[in-house]
Amino acid sequence: MGLEILVTNDDGIRARGLRALTATLSQVGTVRVVAPDRERSGTAHAITVHHPLRVDEVRGMEGATTAYQVDGTPADCVKLGVEALLPVRPDLVVSGVNRGPNLGTDVLYSGTVSAAVEGLIMGIPSVAVSVAGYDNWTGLDAATVLARHLALLIAEKGLPEDTLLNVNIPDCRPEEIRGIKITRVGIRRYRDFIDKRVDPWGRTYYWLAGEAIDLDNDPDLDTIALRDRWISITPVQFQLTHVDFMGELSRWPLVWK
Ligand code: MN
Repeated sequence: MGLEILVTNDDGIRARGLRALTATLSQVGTVRVVAPDRERSGTAHAITVHHPLRVDEVRGMEGATTAYQVDGTPADCVKLGVEALLPVRPDLVVSGVNRGPNLGTDVLYSGTVSAAVEGLIMGIPSVAVSVAGYDNWTGLDAATVLARHLALLIAEKGLPEDTLLNVNIPDCRPEEIRGIKITRVGIRRYRDFIDKRVDPWGRTYYWLAGEAIDLDNDPDLDTIALRDRWISITPVQFQLTHVDFMGELSRWPLVWK
């Protein structure tokens, strides 16, 4: 099997989703794991530049040809994996399976998706996979089976150069899943998202939380597809420039002195 796959995540190397993904992907390629040594959810595309990165080899992980834990972020793991730890350049980066959804605007905060973005920046086809629940892992088998199929399809067909796949699986039994939808990134906001509390010593502290609100109801959005128990696959593109606006902006009477 010639396919070389780098597996990472943001839930940490001990996470059940990463272990299951590694075991399943090993059926179609050589899997090398480079993952954070602890949970790093919500770290987005952060990288570590002000202290060194420590790496430890992890032995005995089912399906992994080699596995390393890193005391850094998901993006650090991909950089380090590709540039320093792996003996060959991976054909594919797969990040996940994340515990919890990565939908709508939340993809900007997601360590899971950012690891895939890092793969993309390095010119490697990349996929992020998440199960949209926190406790049951009911969708985990569907997530790993789909990831295995995607690995083979991407090896055969490739992906556009600046595009990753963001995959979300509803946390329900296979017979309850309605099918697969190709979606767009929705817009997700949060209601009451700062919880102000008082600690035992009388000091105020804050907790970022809150209830997700999806502003649009379009069935082609990832947020809505998941709500309706579809598997969502979004081709996410990182062309950040708003090309159409460049002309108008260039006619603004801008000054710098
Ligand atoms: Mn996570």
